[in-house]
Amino acid sequence: MQVLKFGGTSVGSAERMKAVAKLVNYPGRKIVVLSAMSGTTDQLVRITKALFEQLPSEASRIVKELEPLYRDTIETLFTTNEYKKKGNEIVTEHFNFLASFTQDMFTHNEEKSILAEGELLSTALFHYYLEEQKIPSVLLPALNFMRIDENGEPDLEYMQEHLAKELAKYPHAELFITQGYICRNAFGQVDNLKRGGSDYSASLIGAAINAEEVQIWTDIDGMHNNDPRYVPDTYPIAELSFDEAAELAYFGAKILHPYCILPAKKKNVPVRLLNTMQPEAKGTLISKAASGDEIKAVAAKDSITVIKIKSTRMLMAYGFLRSIFEVFERYKAPIDMITTSEVAVSLTIDDVTNLKEIITELEMYGTVDVEMNQVIICIVGDFLADKHGYAVRIFDSLKDVPIRMISYGGSKNNISVLIAAEYKKEALLALNRGVFKINK
Ligand code: ADP
Ligand code: ASP
Ligand code: MG
Repeated sequence: MQVLKFGGTSVGSAERMKAVAKLVNYPGRKIVVLSAMSGTTDQLVRITKALFEQLPSEASRIVKELEPLYRDTIETLFTTNEYKKKGNEIVTEHFNFLASFTQDMFTHNEEKSILAEGELLSTALFHYYLEEQKIPSVLLPALNFMRIDENGEPDLEYMQEHLAKELAKYPHAELFITQGYICRNAFGQVDNLKRGGSDYSASLIGAAINAEEVQIWTDIDGMHNNDPRYVPDTYPIAELSFDEAAELAYFGAKILHPYCILPAKKKNVPVRLLNTMQPEAKGTLISKAASGDEIKAVAAKDSITVIKIKSTRMLMAYGFLRSIFEVFERYKAPIDMITTSEVAVSLTIDDVTNLKEIITELEMYGTVDVEMNQVIICIVGDFLADKHGYAVRIFDSLKDVPIRMISYGGSKNNISVLIAAEYKKEALLALNRGVFKINK
């Protein structure tokens, strides 16, 4: 069985949905995971913000602003009046639901229900379209089997059991459609896998059913060697190992959700990145296979905060680092980079929800300096320890960029440097010229 995920742009209009229907209409059992139509989740986020700020008229203004996208899509997507009517009815139902929140008390539960609407809408319309085209398919409600536990971690065992039950109801069906991004939490409430989470859904579903392959269909022909949003001349990478892809996803390559490679890696399910606008392009194959000792790609992770703890006591004394790490553990703040000297330790986090509390506790151990608005530039490849020359190529390229921290040797796949946000583009361009030899 295969899992095919289509992102927001891939289902962003009636034309795109029709193209997706063509791509998935081939023999064999498969689960198709859809995102919300592009721009929708951003709008839903704006609606929830307005409601939190008790601005109901602003919220209903945004609801009204979003609706025409769906009405217009229906007009071009469906041919028959019967399906135009069905489409309009379901859209009315969902928009009435969105409009209903403008009066009442608003909490995180309601927020999550609003954010789920994008994927519920796109899958409902796509399913109707297949029906109108007489392509048999089954709409599987993701809320029946996608689940996170009390720590917000995916509950793979639950998903495995419940998805198997859903699939067993349709032994002869070949084409299943489901929502990316949305799930239930440990209390059974509607929740989600955070922004960009449909990739994570696809990988979790792939792991849950031991899929032969997970395909992530998007608007670009695979993982590129550098961030195409900042660097004009980038190229797709044919193959990556799970570890290399996981590093790139975690450190800012937006094409993949930060955690989405982990479930696939766990079950050894290959992940293929493909382009909906250019289906014949080879894309990127992510698999177990190691793929040569070279620098493959760079990515940048934004909004990093660096915290430096300078101790007057013996910093490296036994147990000191543990005490520091425990502070971050207590506040569930993952640490991305760390460097030490005899008198100080610097580390970075991206979740600043509890920054004030973290600083107060760290001050028990020494003086604490905090700098926000930093960027981690992550250079990924297969860096064999007995080879030399990687570091010199990287740092020679970055000679004009002030570097704040360096991390080398943590894994054989990653060299990271921390720089101020203002140097991000310059650093990515410099690496393209210096490491990848693209001289533009
Ligand atoms: P989708 O809506 O299909 O999930 P996303 O916008 O989340 O698509 O991800 C695709 C985008 O990721 C591309 O359009 C590209 O701008 C961006 N991107 C960032 N870094 C990379 C990279 N290294 N390789 C390819 N795309 C990247
Ligand atoms: N629709 C969600 C988002 O925009 C999930 C996704 O597209 O992956 O974040
Ligand atoms: Mg995405």
